[in-house]
Amino acid sequence: MESKFKRILYGGDYNPNQWSREIWEKDMEYFKDARINSATINVFSWAKLQPSEEEYNFAELDDIVDMLSKEGYDIVLATSTASMPAWLFRKYPEVARTDYQGRHHKFGQRHNACPNSAIYQKYAKALVEQLAGRYAQNEHVTCWHINNEYGGECYCENCEKAFRVWLKKKYQSISALNRAWNLEFWGHTVYDWDEIVLPNLLGDGMENGISTSFAGLSIDYRRFMSDSLLGNYKMERDIIRAYDKDATITTNLMGTYKWLDYFKWAKEMDIVSWDNYPGYNTPWSYTAMRHDLMRGLKDAPFMLMEQTPSQQNWQPYNSLKKPGQMRAQSYQTIAHGADTIQFFQLRRSVGGCEKFHGAVIAHVGTNDTRVFREVKQLGEELERLGTATLGSVNEAQAGILFDWDNYWALEYTSGPTKDLTYVNQIYQYYNFFYEKNIAVNMIPFDADFSKYKVVVAPVLYMVKEGMQEALTEFVKNGGILITTFMSGIVDQSDNVYLGGYPGPLRELAGVWVEEIDALAPEQTNTITFHDGTKIPCSMLCDLMHVEGARCLAEYSTDFYAGTPAITKNQFGKGSTYYIGTNMNSDGIAKVLEMAMAEAGVASVIDEATELEITCRKADTCAYYFVMNFKEKELAVPSCFVGYTDAITGENIKSGDTMAKFDVKIIPVAY
Ligand SMILES: [Zn+2]
Repeated sequence: MESKFKRILYGGDYNPNQWSREIWEKDMEYFKDARINSATINVFSWAKLQPSEEEYNFAELDDIVDMLSKEGYDIVLATSTASMPAWLFRKYPEVARTDYQGRHHKFGQRHNACPNSAIYQKYAKALVEQLAGRYAQNEHVTCWHINNEYGGECYCENCEKAFRVWLKKKYQSISALNRAWNLEFWGHTVYDWDEIVLPNLLGDGMENGISTSFAGLSIDYRRFMSDSLLGNYKMERDIIRAYDKDATITTNLMGTYKWLDYFKWAKEMDIVSWDNYPGYNTPWSYTAMRHDLMRGLKDAPFMLMEQTPSQQNWQPYNSLKKPGQMRAQSYQTIAHGADTIQFFQLRRSVGGCEKFHGAVIAHVGTNDTRVFREVKQLGEELERLGTATLGSVNEAQAGILFDWDNYWALEYTSGPTKDLTYVNQIYQYYNFFYEKNIAVNMIPFDADFSKYKVVVAPVLYMVKEGMQEALTEFVKNGGILITTFMSGIVDQSDNVYLGGYPGPLRELAGVWVEEIDALAPEQTNTITFHDGTKIPCSMLCDLMHVEGARCLAEYSTDFYAGTPAITKNQFGKGSTYYIGTNMNSDGIAKVLEMAMAEAGVASVIDEATELEITCRKADTCAYYFVMNFKEKELAVPSCFVGYTDAITGENIKSGDTMAKFDVKIIPVAY
């Protein structure tokens, strides 16, 4: 696959406008020393670019662009629309958002424009017209970065009006909407579009947005809000595109961020970019999952738009990255499909809430720091690596279904348990693949399933139109489907499929789930596999009957002892595994190992190891990324002996070991 870039972009957010010109010159020297070749600029400069409604001033931005252009930087040019100037709020209070509690906000913070404010749209559009007209033809502007970390929501009157228009388009008639949201429940029937009230705390929302009395309404509001913000993005993108039809345009996403349907967003983006901020205790496998999700959005290499070189400021505990950790994290990012490594930020700000956020140049203002040296080391290594890995692809025979509608719907449900969270369930299954070094793609509900041997669909609570047919076709033709409790329950509007769970998946799974038991945290059950293995289970237990499926494990206690907990159903040339309860990782591994053996899906290499290993395929060779994230030395797998590490140029010998945070990139010719 051809990369969007001619080299690995290595740099990050740079705000010279916060500094004097002498410092700019010094920065250029330092950055060159660290092999930094890219800068993301103009992320929050609207107030400076437009001091008043009538006046623009691009003098300083011109200077910054000129300086970076002369130095040969790849410029990632942001549009500055994520933080509005004070005068705009003062003159047009409607540009601010109204929050879930119904409070209309004032000037302050950022990421706070009402996406449905015509005034916000007008002024954002005018600014982007100016920027695109001025800089789109600059060959050093390699990428456009629209807005910043889109997110949040607005509950203002403009949004309410726009929501009604959105609903009218979707449902056509008020009776269809009444049916979709089942408004007869609690006597909520509406007779006019203007009777529809958005679901905030003053309306149908409950518990600060955690739950809602009509999930269909709240899920539609989520879809509408995601679409509204996406509309803002598309507006800016289209302006830039008009000035440069070949521009690479993105906006920085945030991994498993809940409130935007990123699969839908990615369709509008030329390349996915994202900001990776693991906490001090985030497992490496969790970060890997989020990288794979970001790659999966377009099934293509992505940009790492932001990571900190050292520490963050907004987590409860902002631990330093230990020596070697930033480098290892950067390689893990490339291992999962990144074509860029960019930091937030290049120089640490003097004030504001991010003054404790790490940067390449710290407050001391020199390059004589541990962090700088580590950034420089990585810069030199990436420069040596050159273009080798750019555009290479991560292939997988297994896919995990990730779907934002399901994310929202599952977490809006009132019952059967409050402990069920979407991403945690996905992660438990992802972690199996991670531990085994089996390549896996994160895939949307409308993916081409025929590309996969195995599709895992944990808690596929909402089965949308077309999913039943697609999954049936997949299994019929020999695919292996793994699904779980709380699957096949509702349609796109959160109304239950009548006729027994798991609704549209019942025939595929060959089971009927009659009841769902919820276990409190202090309660557990156990399941027993037919080879005698006992595995504890918790949270939810499906009470089910087999309808053609074979039972693989049964509950051991409670009144449903001896009834099926895990089943397998042959269907056409394939089969469906149904996991009726929440197991620990051993239980999940036991079932998934069976499924992988049946499907013939193997690990990236043939040897068992505790190292993380991924593979990116280029035209003439496969690049194996071998990484040690464990607290101990680990042996390099023997299959790599005799090959060369592309980072060091050294030959790999028998008996070689890797210390914690060590990374090797090993090209193996086809
Ligand atoms: Zn609004």
